[in-house]
Amino acid sequence: MYFFSPPAILKWITPSYVYWNVENAQRKIYLTLDDGPDERVTTEVLSILKDFGARATFFCLGKNAEKHPAILENILLQGHALGNHTYSHCNAWRTSKSGFMKDVKKCDEVFRSSLMRPPYGNLPLYGLNELNKQYKIIMWSLMSFDFDKRIASDAIVSHFAANTRSGSVWVFHDNMKARERCLSALPLLIDHFMKKGFVFEKLDARKL
Ligand SMILES: [Zn+2]
Repeated sequence: MYFFSPPAILKWITPSYVYWNVENAQRKIYLTLDDGPDERVTTEVLSILKDFGARATFFCLGKNAEKHPAILENILLQGHALGNHTYSHCNAWRTSKSGFMKDVKKCDEVFRSSLMRPPYGNLPLYGLNELNKQYKIIMWSLMSFDFDKRIASDAIVSHFAANTRSGSVWVFHDNMKARERCLSALPLLIDHFMKKGFVFEKLDARKL
């Protein structure tokens, strides 16, 4: 079953250093994009962000970053942030602690970031303390499920429009699977919230 917003109980049982939103962030929205960089979609997303003057955080896979160093550089040049999403989209619940940590480190060897998001949102409960020494662990307030073609982009737009608050963390995906929904929902949502006086900021580990 899908939850656009994570059930409250999840937030209560995870340690305080796992971020589901950014507290005290007045009229700020934190857009995050997972699983890139992708040659086509990341470039398209970057151009949308540029048009709006919006900032975002890209939780990249090490294996994709390795293939597209120029796009990775563009993300940074255009003022966005990078986050570690492991090297190979490693599932913490199906991997040993050492296997998962190795995959995180392998991504770190491609690019450095102090932000980390575990793939599938599967928190590596066995390694949270250790990860926390090096990273801010970022979950989300609102998940678009843009990778699922059964979800209409209208549904994403109306759910996000109704449930976004100051400090919300959004998840979209900059890959081909999500392309259609991501590229149609994002401009509408960014426009909607900017008109309401919100700004889109990148995550900054030092400020969390
Ligand atoms: Zn992912």
